[in-house]
Amino acid sequence: MKLTRSSAIVPETDVTVAGWVHELRDLGGISFLLLRDRDGIMQITMPKKKVPPELVEHVRSLSRESVVRVAGLVKEELKAPQGFEIIPYEVELLNAAESPLPLDVTGKVRADLDTRLDARFMDVRLPATRAIFLIRATVLHEVRAFLSAHDFIEIQTPKMVATATEGGTQLFPISYFDREAFLNQSPQLYKQIMMAAGLERVFEVGPIFRAEEHDTRKHLNEVTSIDIEASFLDDNEVMELLEELIQHVYIAVAERCSAPLQSLGVTLSIPHIPFKRIAYAEAIEIADIPWGDDLDTAAERAVGQEMGEHYFIVDWPVELKPFYVQPRNNLCYAFDLMHPRMELASGARRIHDYALLVEQLASKSLAPENFGFYLDAFRFGMPPHAGWGLGAERLLVTMLGLANIRESVLFPRDRRRITP
Ligand code: ATP
Ligand code: MG
Repeated sequence: MKLTRSSAIVPETDVTVAGWVHELRDLGGISFLLLRDRDGIMQITMPKKKVPPELVEHVRSLSRESVVRVAGLVKEELKAPQGFEIIPYEVELLNAAESPLPLDVTGKVRADLDTRLDARFMDVRLPATRAIFLIRATVLHEVRAFLSAHDFIEIQTPKMVATATEGGTQLFPISYFDREAFLNQSPQLYKQIMMAAGLERVFEVGPIFRAEEHDTRKHLNEVTSIDIEASFLDDNEVMELLEELIQHVYIAVAERCSAPLQSLGVTLSIPHIPFKRIAYAEAIEIADIPWGDDLDTAAERAVGQEMGEHYFIVDWPVELKPFYVQPRNNLCYAFDLMHPRMELASGARRIHDYALLVEQLASKSLAPENFGFYLDAFRFGMPPHAGWGLGAERLLVTMLGLANIRESVLFPRDRRRITP
């Protein structure tokens, strides 16, 4: 049987719709069933004069959040939620919901985040929660569309690996047959190898795992990372690509997600490009921290307040950035993309010279023999290249003004949470 979504309903037609029993109301001579599907709420109206009493009784006996299918005639009704109501011929209970419910789905009493995450299947039924994931899907769709249009091809790199990307910390060990292995913290080494493989422009949207024990509103232990790597582009060129991507995604979400944005009460303002660029030296002056310190949360906030919009921090000291970043005297060709609230992305022009790369590994006290498979790619024709990694959750959180990064993931993984 063909079902019609609530968003596609036309007055004066017969339809079959399906969804969840959102609410039942009774006004004496007339009963209402508010039926919810993914797109919104439909009013099923049962005037005593038009609907047989057995059917009205059947509907009134339904428990909230039960799943039903309704066949009926659509009438225009400007006072109803979407400007129409349905007069039912038939209401079929597909599956009854138990009560009490683990969570109130009408949104009248908002539960705390932990309770919501424990009953995520129920929480996502709330329009304001569902809106986040409708927008998330659009963001990732638009990222892929933008990068594909810019000649990038999508790749998948392994998530189970033998070596750390940037040293031994922050890794989740796993048992891999008779050996120890790790969940990958970044596709960095593999996307660089693909530059030697001649793919020229690659991107990946995939999970990264970080075993950091932080408990903040902007860190998770499993993140969706949007990564690119491009041959024959330099740091400035991949920064331009990044700011264009951010602007493209904001514009697309503003155009295509008006209903979810409205559920969240968010009006997007499209960021202006080019973003401002400030040197690390200026940033630490604003934040009042010493040369050589990374920007902690307080420093990010101080600089963010001063900048007021998206910006790049460039000209980093070489010791603050990973071994694969191209150095320039005591500085390097690395950049961070910042939102006033937090860091969104890190990137750089990479080292493509084998000897320099080995030297930089040693200077970070990393053993070149652990990086053999990676280093080999630099010995037989590695082009100059650059790239970045952008956290999908942080992009969403800053775009939508969400208070906590856990809001932006269906099933967040953090220090305390590994279920559901
Ligand atoms: P931070 O300093 O904010 O912890 P980072 O510099 O360690 O982040 P990178 O290794 O530069 O992170 O990773 C690139 C991007 O991936 C970050 O800018 C961020 O958007 C995202 N990211 C990395 N780690 C996390 C995490 N634990 N939780 C959420 N997002 C993350
Ligand atoms: Mg970073």
